[in-house]
Amino acid sequence: MQPCTNCQTAIDEYLLDKRLEPLRELTVDDFNVCADCVTIVTDACVECDGAVYVPRSKSVTPEFCPACRSDLIDRTGQDPGWTRGQAST
Ligand SMILES: [Zn+2]
Ligand SMILES: [Zn+2]
Repeated sequence: MQPCTNCQTAIDEYLLDKRLEPLRELTVDDFNVCADCVTIVTDACVECDGAVYVPRSKSVTPEFCPACRSDLIDRTGQDPGWTRGQAST
């Protein structure tokens, strides 16, 4: 078992898997934090109305779910980040 990078407890993959259920494409293997430390916001993606994953270091809720973000990277060749419009500064 891997320890959570945030709180150092062993990651319970079953619990984490439950938390990640609304997310498309991501699995417990994509995370190194425990279920208590992962933040999921449902219906927040502006592209697909799916659930988004909020990185620990971010204080804002992302506007793209991980699946749509990688779709955008595939389509444009650029990483849009987690929110739209922030590139236009
Ligand atoms: Zn944790
Ligand atoms: Zn999406």
